[in-house]
Amino acid sequence: VIEIGQPEHSVVTTCAYCGVGCSFKAEMRGDELVRMMPYKDGKANRGHSCVKGRFAWGYATHKDRILNPMVRDKITDPWREVSWEEAFAHVAGEFRRIQYQYGKGAIGGITSSRCTNEETFLVQKLIRQGFGNNNVDTCARVCHSPTGYGLKTTFGTSAGTQDFDSVEHTDVALIIGANPTDGHPVFASRLKKRLREGARLIVIDPRRIDLVRQPHVEAAHHLPLRPGTNVAVLTALSHVIVTEGLFDEAFIRERCDWSEFEDYAAFAAEPQHSPEEVEKVSGVAADTIRAAARLYATGGNAAIYYGLGVTEHSQGSTTVMAIANLAMLTGNIGRPGVGVNPLRGQNNVQGACDMGSFPHELPGYRHMSDDATRDVFEAVWNVTLDPEPGLRIPNMLDAAVEGSFRGLYIQGEDILQSDPDTKHVAAGLAAMECVVVHDLFLNETANYAHVFLPGSTFLEKDGTFTNAERRINRVRKVMAPKNGLADWEVTQRLAQAMGLDWAYTHPAQVMDEIALTTPSFAGVNYDLLDREGSVQWPCNDKAPTGTPVMHIDGFVRGKGKFIRTEYVATDEKSGPRFPLLLTTGRILSQYNVGAQTRRTENVVWHSEDRLEIHPHDAEQRGLCDGDWVRIRSRAGETTLRAQITDRVAPGVVYTTFHHPDTQANVVTTEFSDWATNCPEYKVTAVQVSPSNGP
Ligand code: SF4
Repeated sequence: VIEIGQPEHSVVTTCAYCGVGCSFKAEMRGDELVRMMPYKDGKANRGHSCVKGRFAWGYATHKDRILNPMVRDKITDPWREVSWEEAFAHVAGEFRRIQYQYGKGAIGGITSSRCTNEETFLVQKLIRQGFGNNNVDTCARVCHSPTGYGLKTTFGTSAGTQDFDSVEHTDVALIIGANPTDGHPVFASRLKKRLREGARLIVIDPRRIDLVRQPHVEAAHHLPLRPGTNVAVLTALSHVIVTEGLFDEAFIRERCDWSEFEDYAAFAAEPQHSPEEVEKVSGVAADTIRAAARLYATGGNAAIYYGLGVTEHSQGSTTVMAIANLAMLTGNIGRPGVGVNPLRGQNNVQGACDMGSFPHELPGYRHMSDDATRDVFEAVWNVTLDPEPGLRIPNMLDAAVEGSFRGLYIQGEDILQSDPDTKHVAAGLAAMECVVVHDLFLNETANYAHVFLPGSTFLEKDGTFTNAERRINRVRKVMAPKNGLADWEVTQRLAQAMGLDWAYTHPAQVMDEIALTTPSFAGVNYDLLDREGSVQWPCNDKAPTGTPVMHIDGFVRGKGKFIRTEYVATDEKSGPRFPLLLTTGRILSQYNVGAQTRRTENVVWHSEDRLEIHPHDAEQRGLCDGDWVRIRSRAGETTLRAQITDRVAPGVVYTTFHHPDTQANVVTTEFSDWATNCPEYKVTAVQVSPSNGP
């Protein structure tokens, strides 16, 4: 029994884990956080929470936190603690030296989806205004960048169409490439409630996720497709809808371009997209594809929810557009209960994207080449902006290896552990002359850093996070930053050291600048957020309290755009040498690379990454449950324990990537989405063999 004492006061704030964005009351006793209680008026969670948000905040006071800035000349030198002033002067001097020596484009930065909107806005501003280039990227590069591309192309805006409340009006839920029970638990609870009320479920996933067999709920259809064949299966659903006349002609005539539809319909009707042909490619029975298509098209309000199993493929953007095609074909857009709903991973990945963290886009998803948009920012920032897009993360690493990129500011991101092809990431980092890691802990990337700037937790700062339903939630300071400076203050001090005249005294002023420059945030300010609790963008004169459901009267781009989604098999193929296909995911109690959850004192968080393998494949290799196995791919190898289960089909293996001792990403490959470079984490050809352990 732990005596926690009675709280004396509380502060309402937002969970810093996943894209559901649950509101919590942080209950305090003096300066000490006593407990986190789910907030009943939180619009995203309505008093519910999962185990992470409720209990996994111990990392905020963990002894591993670094509280003083540190520098070193070479990455083999020991760290030396310095004052903040010395650290900022050192970074500014090094970055200016590198630019003088190698050119303006030789440095860049990475914003964090763990940080607030205000903090990501400031990092991209520092890069554009202070570095004088567009070399800014964010971890959405490795998760939902295809969502941004695909939904902007088809609907005109890079975000999900619905609010979470919408699920209460859903009759058919199609889940593809997501495991909400583990990844988005509070939303999963609302979905399960709706399923228990009678809504039907279609699951498209190589693995039999928990939702497929819930008590009192049976997935109407589970399509256990071969990893890498999403586009083939989704286009086969369109094939059935088109050839059986199940499409919504009235909706398409009113909301889309009819001639584009005719072109798409002819494409979808081609014989190679028939369920029988796609069965050969995907392994999903043709009858199951037909039945799922009929249910989606005729079962009432049909909503699609998807996750990284859609985006982290060489055809990630194509898959998002194939999903959009389905929604437009059947008129399932623009009212409660329907829509296309990306389940965003990190707490503020939506916000980081909204805030211009991409090398080609300013805040609000407006391309750098757009003169009118550049005019707005140039006037406010008193700077001339480069209309040419900058470098993406993989391009920065390539350029570092080649010798033209030499300095990187990384806020709240452990790219060595989270990005694919670990050897290449390490080579890129090792080639740089000034790597600045701004984080809570000495993460794996910090092994290659020359400067470490201590970060602050969500409990130590003010700001906002934007969740998967575009909801802007307030983050409120619960305690003073243990390192002395909130993350937005660190970026501001660095900007000042580089000669910029920034003088923000509170993140509310940053939000005012966001509202001034970004039309979808034009009506957002802290007074409104305090009054309303939260709002969903677009929030402006037309929608002064936000927009729960988008595209009601028309698509943001005008007419919805059908795209021919040709299936192109990934170059990553299984074969005699690497006969199994590895795919990856998460468990409920851990979060991504585990930097926070692994530093919470509770046995719930004592887990390990395991390799799920089908009994047939295990028997062929002489494996028993719990045996050590070695997985090897073209890129690398690692060792972990086997878990024998028929959750995965023969030929498919699955693991999580929470633990640095496993480093599952040492085996993932260099392949990535054709449009956005989002890595193909979800398909890696591997061999699995018995091992004596690490
Ligand atoms: Fe936090 Fe997500 Fe859990 Fe809600 S569902 S408490 S946002 S981790």
